[in-house]
Amino acid sequence: MAELPDKGTAFIDWYLAVVEAADLTDKRYPVKGMNVWTTYGFRARRNLDAVMVREIEATGSEAVEFPALIPANEFAKEKEHIKGFDNEVYWVTKGGATPLDVPLVLRPTSETAMYPVFAMWVRSHRDLPLNVYQIVNTFRYETKTTRPFVRVREIHFFEEHTCQVDEDHATERVRSNLGAFRRMAEAFCLPYLTTRRPDWDKFAGAHYTIAFDIPLAGARTLQLGSVHHYRENFSRPYGITYEAPDGSQRHVHQTTFGLSERLLGAIVAVHGDAKGAVFPSAIAPYEVVVVPILGTDSGPGPIQTAEAATDRLRRAGRRVRLDAGDERPGAKYYRWELHGVPLRLEIGRREAEGRSVTIVDRLGRKGTVPLDRLETGVAERLADFDRALRERARTAFAGSVTPARVLDDLKDSVTVRLVGWCGSEECGHQIETAIDGALLGTLEEALPNPLEAPTRCIACGTSDGVRSAIAGRPM
Ligand code: ZN
Repeated sequence: MAELPDKGTAFIDWYLAVVEAADLTDKRYPVKGMNVWTTYGFRARRNLDAVMVREIEATGSEAVEFPALIPANEFAKEKEHIKGFDNEVYWVTKGGATPLDVPLVLRPTSETAMYPVFAMWVRSHRDLPLNVYQIVNTFRYETKTTRPFVRVREIHFFEEHTCQVDEDHATERVRSNLGAFRRMAEAFCLPYLTTRRPDWDKFAGAHYTIAFDIPLAGARTLQLGSVHHYRENFSRPYGITYEAPDGSQRHVHQTTFGLSERLLGAIVAVHGDAKGAVFPSAIAPYEVVVVPILGTDSGPGPIQTAEAATDRLRRAGRRVRLDAGDERPGAKYYRWELHGVPLRLEIGRREAEGRSVTIVDRLGRKGTVPLDRLETGVAERLADFDRALRERARTAFAGSVTPARVLDDLKDSVTVRLVGWCGSEECGHQIETAIDGALLGTLEEALPNPLEAPTRCIACGTSDGVRSAIAGRPM
C-alpha cells in the first residue's frame, strides 16, 4: 500500500487518498459526481443519520418523505428561490417517449415539493407548529470539480421544514436548531464556526441564513450545514395560512435546517491523519476491531477468547468486527488504522491466559482491560477516545482562526480570519477581495477559542456598529 500524501502540504490529495483507501466510496460510477455508497461507507452514513435523527427528534420533529419529482409550476412560485437554483437543477421532460405536459424537476431541496402540501395540512393554529424532516437524496448539477461527500451531484441530504405561528416562534425554532446542531457536533467531535451570512450570500428566498463552517488548511472553509428563517417569503406564494384563535387568517412563518453527507467529509478532513481516517465512536462503522494473535504455539486460546469477546461486545450493542484472517497482525493493524476504527483489541496467548485484553486506540494509546469487565472497559475507552479526539480537533481549530486588523493581513492568509465589519456591503466586498474568498458572516455564537472582539471595521476603520465577522476561502 502506497503512503498517503502529506495532509499539511497536499490537503486535497490527502483527502481523496484517505476516502479511497478507507473504502468509504466508489467513484467509478459512470456519472460524474454520483458515487456509490460502499458497505463500509454506508455504515458510517447510517451512523451519521442516527445522530441527526436522535437530536432532531429530541426537539419535537417528525420524519416524513416527499416525492423526488417536483412539477415545474410549483417549482417556479417563489421568485428568489427559483433564481438561486435555476442553473443547477435536473429536468425530467419525458414519460416514456411522450413529452410531459408539465416538466418535472428532480428535487435540489424540497421547499417547492412540500409547501403546496403544507398549505393543505395547515388549517388552524392547532396544526402548529408543524416540524417535519426527511433524509433523502437531492440532486444538483454541480459544474465545479466534484469531490466525494464534499461536492457531489446526488447528495444524501437531511432537511427540516417547519411552520410556526409567527416570526418570534420561527426565531425560537432557529435557536432550537442551533442547539440540535451543537449536540450533533459534540458526537462528531467537531469544533465549528456559526455565522449569520451577509445578505448577498443568504439562501435563495430566505429572510436570513445562519451557517456552520469548519476551518481547513490554507484559510479554506467548508460549510457543514445551515438554518434559514423564511418569515412569510414562502408561505405567501404557496398560500400556507391558518386560522388564529381570534378567527383571522394568517400566514405561517417558516424555517428550514439542512445538513448533508458533507458532514462525513468534514469528519474525515478534520480527524484524519498520516495513518488514514479517524472516526469518532458515534460514526465509526466499527467501534472495535478484535485481532487474535496466533503463534505456532499459541493453541486455541487466542481465537476462542477473541470470538467470545466479539460475541459479548456485540450483545452489549457495540459495532464490532473480528478479524481472524491469516494475515500478519501488523497488516491488520495497518488496515484498521487506515479505516479509522477507534479501538483495537489484541488477544494473544498471554492475554488469553491472563484473562485480559490489550486495547490500543486510534490515537495510539495503549492499555489493558480484564475480561471480566470487558463491556464497561470498552465503553470507558471509547468515551475517553472521543474526549481525546475532541481535544485534538479543538487544538487544531484554535490555531486556524486568527485575528486580522488591516486588509493587508488578509492577503495570502494561511488561516481563517476574525475581522471587524461595519456591516456595509461595500466594506464586505473589500474584505472578500482582500482574502480572495468570502466574508462568511458575523459570528452568531462564540468561537470555541475566544478571541478578542475587533473594535474597528477592517475596511473603513469606523468603530460604529462593528461586529465580529469571519473571512475565509470556501472550499
Ligand atoms: Zn466598514
